Parts: sequence; C-alpha cells; structure tokens
Amino acid sequence: MRGTTDFIEQKREKPKELDAAKRVATWKEYVQAFPEAKLRTQASRCMECGTPFCQMGELIGRQTSGCPLYNLIPEWNTLAAQGKWEEAYQRLLLTNNFPEFTSRACPAPCEGSCTAGLVSEPVTIKSIERAIIDRAWEEGWIKPRIPLKRNGLKAAVVGSGPAGLTAADDLNQAGYDVTVFEKEDRFGGLLMYGIPNMKIEKQYVERRVDLLQAEGITFKANTEIGKDITLDELESAFDAVLLCIGAEKQRDMDIPGRDLKGIYPAMEYLKANTKHLLDHGENGEPQISAKGKKVIVIGGGDTGADCVATAIRQGCKSVVQFGKHGELPKERPEHEPWPVNPSLFTLDYAYEESFKVFGEDPRQYYIQTTAFHGNENGEVTGLVTVPFSDPRGAEQQVWEADLVLIAIGFQGVDDSKSAGIELQNGLIQTLPGSFQTNREGIFAAGDAKRGASLIVWAMQEGKKAAKEIDLYLSQKDKATCQPSA
Ligand SMILES: Cc1cc2nc3c(=O)[nH]c(=O)nc-3n(C[C@H](O)[C@H](O)[C@H](O)COP(=O)(O)OP(=O)(O)OC[C@H]3O[C@@H](n4cnc5c(N)ncnc54)[C@H](O)[C@@H]3O)c2cc1C
Ligand code: SF4
Repeated sequence: MRGTTDFIEQKREKPKELDAAKRVATWKEYVQAFPEAKLRTQASRCMECGTPFCQMGELIGRQTSGCPLYNLIPEWNTLAAQGKWEEAYQRLLLTNNFPEFTSRACPAPCEGSCTAGLVSEPVTIKSIERAIIDRAWEEGWIKPRIPLKRNGLKAAVVGSGPAGLTAADDLNQAGYDVTVFEKEDRFGGLLMYGIPNMKIEKQYVERRVDLLQAEGITFKANTEIGKDITLDELESAFDAVLLCIGAEKQRDMDIPGRDLKGIYPAMEYLKANTKHLLDHGENGEPQISAKGKKVIVIGGGDTGADCVATAIRQGCKSVVQFGKHGELPKERPEHEPWPVNPSLFTLDYAYEESFKVFGEDPRQYYIQTTAFHGNENGEVTGLVTVPFSDPRGAEQQVWEADLVLIAIGFQGVDDSKSAGIELQNGLIQTLPGSFQTNREGIFAAGDAKRGASLIVWAMQEGKKAAKEIDLYLSQKDKATCQPSA
C-alpha cells in the first residue's frame, strides 16, 4: 500500500550491477533488471508533485534540469507503483519514442530535479522507466503501428541517430512517406557506433530499427548525402529534408608528435571496437586494440570514460585518463541549488572497473599534454604533461604510453557547408526558434544543430523538428490547393 511519506520511509535503491571484476570479461550491459516488488516500492516513493520539476526539461545555466522529453514521470510512477504496467507504458509512449535508449544511457537529469531529493534521496526514475519499457517488449505490447492513411508527401531524414529516428517515427505516424539515409553500414548513429555495448547492447537498437521498418519507414545504409547523393538531388526528390547528421568533427591536438602511430581520436577507437564485435564477435582483434598496452586517454568526459572501460575489456596493461578540470564535489554545491541537476563526483562504471582491475581510479586532474614522444619506428612511446591552471604549480611529468586516445570533444558537423547550408561555430544554423535552415524546406536537428549533447536532447529536437515539418508541409499543401483568383 502506497503511503504519502514513502519517499522518506523507503530508502532509494538502485538496481544491482554486474560485479565490476567479472563484468570486464564481457561486453554485456552492466546494469541488471530490478525485481518487481522492489520496483513498485521505489515507484511508490514518487510524491506526484503538483508541479513536477522532474519533467520540466530546462537548461539552467549550462545544466540540463528535468526531463527534456517532458516525460510524464509522476503519472507512470503511480501506475508502476500500482502494478499497472501496460498503462504505465502507454503514458511513457506519449512523450518518449524510444525509452529503451534513454532508460539505459540517459544521465537522468530528472532525478537531480526530483522534489524528494530536497529532503531525502530522489526517486529512481530512470530504473522505473527501463522496467516499464523492457516489460512492454517482453509482454509483446509493442507491435508495428502501421499508419492507416498516407498523405502523399515525402520526407527525407539524413542520419539515423536518436534525432533522425525520432523525427522519422513521428513523420511516419503522421502519414508521410519517410526515407532515412545513413552513411554507415548500420543504423542508430552514436547509439550504434559511439555508446559502447556495456551501456546499450546493439540488439536493442536493431530491434527498434526493425520495428520502424515494419511500420513503413525506408532505411538506406551506406548512403552519404553530399557524396553518394547530393543535397540538391534530395531536395528535388522529397517535399522536405531533415539533416540529423550529428556533430562528428572531433577536436584534435596540434602539439609535437601528434602524427606518431598509436594516437587515435576516441571515436575511431570506439567505433572500430563495436564494429568488430558486431562483425566477428569476440574472435580476433579489432583494428585498434589496447591488448597488452599502456593506454592514456586524453579528455576527462564521458567519451573518455567509455574508452577506459573498452580498453580494460580489451586487456590493456594499464590505463590513465587526463582531465583539465578538478574533481567534482561529492555534495550539491551552493551554486547549483535544487532544482538544478548538480554536477557531482561519481564513480562511473569505467572507474569502478579500473579500481577492481588495477586498484586505482584512472583519473588525473588539472593536467595538460604538451608533446608526444616516439621511437625510431614512428610509434608513440609516451607523452609530456604540465599542470593545467593548477595553483600548486607542480613539475612537468613524463608518462609512458603505447596507445593514446584523444577524447577532448567535438567541433561540429563535417562538410555540409559545401552543400550551401550555413554553419555557425561549426553547427548548422537555423532560423531563430525554428529548425529551418537557410534553405527553405531543409531542416536540421540534434547534435548537428545544438552541438554535442545527450540522447534525450537529440530526441526532443527530432520531435520538435518533425512537428515543424508537418506544419510547414501542411501550410504549403493548402497554399498550392488555393483556387486562383
Ligand atoms: C562515446 C559517446 C558516448 C556517449 N554516451 C552518452 C550517454 O551515455 N548518454 C547520452 O545521453 N548521450 C551520450 N552521448 C551523446 C549522444 O550519443 C548524442 O548526443 C546523440 O547520439 C546525438 O544524436 P544525433 O541523432 O543528433 O546524432 P548522431 O547520433 O551523431 O547521429 C548522426 C548520424 O548521421 C550520420 N551522418 C552524418 N553525416 C551524414 C551524411 N552526410 N549522410 C548520411 N548520414 C550521415 C552519421 O553516420 C550518424 O549515424 C555519447 C556520445 C559519445 C560520442
Ligand atoms: S529520458 Fe532521461 S531525463 Fe527523461 S525521464 Fe528518462 S532518465 Fe529521466
């Protein structure tokens, strides 16, 4: 029975994770499913706030606070607490096209804004979301929803990441004939070739793409717009075009020794590993392997953490990760008051694994690389660092390394400028408050427009862009049907 003070009396619990020492021998997701009884107790901690900050989806300063998809969190928490799983799934579906992705890899800014967190600990919203969607798949509630009517208009979506897939889904359901073009051999964008298996196993991405295909969306892989088909050709073949091409251009380091062998952009490394696993399973070595190597990851963010976890699974000899900032606080800092989702120190999955395997946290703070060292064969053997804005001003340090991964962020989109699309600071520029680019009928959404971000923001943009395209085409259709005076 649910009580009004359950959020105080019941302690927050998270689902179990595979033991860090054992899970590094596999590429499986490390978060386990929650047993139903525990889930219902956790869902009962939700207070059903009259003003649910968890679902507001705002940027406060630079922090995402609340759910950018405006998920109806208190509503499906209540249904989950009552064991009404199918109804909970129906509520979740109203705002979230692909909860199996968000509930696995979203950093859950909703939880940082949960009111229960003010006096106790926040509700485990993300785990409840995952239980609802996993159950919906298991129970067979998710079936192809084939639109009954088509409106005769065609939309092209370029890029099959979360932004492109969300927009394609909404446009298809609205009756458009949708074709998704993808330059890679597999669909999903960074869900497929960025985020490692440990966070999202790839069969879940494939299962969703299969469903979208069954619902009538056409998918074309190995087709790069700007190379295999020009944007002009696409524009004349479709009524609207949506560019969801991500922010793939990686930041690099212009320092001595950068051209040595054994130094790679993080994405090249992560993609090669996932592609190898999908093509060959665990047989043989991926194109870039950390096996037996001393690995240094430059860049203290999440992409760097995914490189650490991947290198450990490949059997590296050691791994260190450099960040230019200091350690995050363990408690909510004063400058990030509730309902801001605070940036806090966490022992991310990769760091916990490093502790178990090597007995230490791989993170080094306030550190900047100034040069790479190599041998007579042109291979990297190490690097030199200095403290980055460290008031203590320590000495220059030399580190040994035979594999270096650069994970210092993304600069924006590649090559769309040539197609006549205006960029600003490397990102596709759109009209104020709109997804329309400088070319009428061509729209942009996701990381390509807002910069490298999160799945949940990419999906929000995909939804909003689809809505705008629908409005644009329906107004255009009406205008062309007007009888002439
Ligand atoms: C290593 C890594 C880990 C991450 N982990 C998380 C996480 O745990 N949680 C989270 O919320 N976010 C995470 N992110 C961020 C998240 O993945 C992105 O914000 C999100 O995928 C952006 O979606 P998108 O659809 O805009 O672009 P993308 O996912 O980048 O998809 C763009 C697609 O467009 C295709 N494309 C590009 N140009 C063309 C062209 N000319 N023709 C045809 N196709 C083209 C690309 O091949 C790609 O498939 C991570 C990012 C990285 C790099
Ligand atoms: S999508 Fe992310 S922010 Fe939204 S409810 Fe799920 S975990 Fe929370």
